[in-house]
Amino acid sequence: MKLLIGLGGNVGAVPAAFSDALGAMGTAVVVEAVSPLYRSRPLGPPQPEYWNMAALVAVEMPLLWVLERCQQLELRAGRHRQGEERWGPRPLDLDLLLAPGLVHRGPRLTLPHPRFHRRAFAVVPAADLAPEWVHPYLGRNLRELAGELRSADPGAVRLATPPGSW
Ligand code: AMP
Repeated sequence: MKLLIGLGGNVGAVPAAFSDALGAMGTAVVVEAVSPLYRSRPLGPPQPEYWNMAALVAVEMPLLWVLERCQQLELRAGRHRQGEERWGPRPLDLDLLLAPGLVHRGPRLTLPHPRFHRRAFAVVPAADLAPEWVHPYLGRNLRELAGELRSADPGAVRLATPPGSW
């Protein structure tokens, strides 16, 4: 199954944390493509700008296994969930964003990610990798959603490196 994973963070050496996490996913999660790096304006409490990117992966394991793997990698990067402020600063955040044609609602995992389509910092990098993938609830593809979010708030997310230089 193909899956888009969103990566974010704003504490420490975040681009290095992204490449460490993608390199450590394991053989059951094959990273097929990565977006360029972006910087984005933080939501929530005052805090540094975020780094963001997306990865297109092929997974051989159940999605809950992939979620657990992502949570292990967040902890390994120094993230501590207990006591963490909601929307607060973090070294690494990994979200399962979208898998084509797949809808899942469970206690630990919702797909598409419930806030994905409203967040330019997630949709814009994801649209670089899978512009034709359609959001199952909205019936619009990622290119369209990224365009709408960008025109609604042009300063929310900006390219940090030229495409292809990762
Ligand atoms: P966050 O603090 O944004 O990393 O949120 C993590 C929490 O969201 C965990 O309790 C996950 O079980 C839950 N969750 C639900 N759906 C998703 C998803 N699609 N990707 C990542 N976490 C999810």
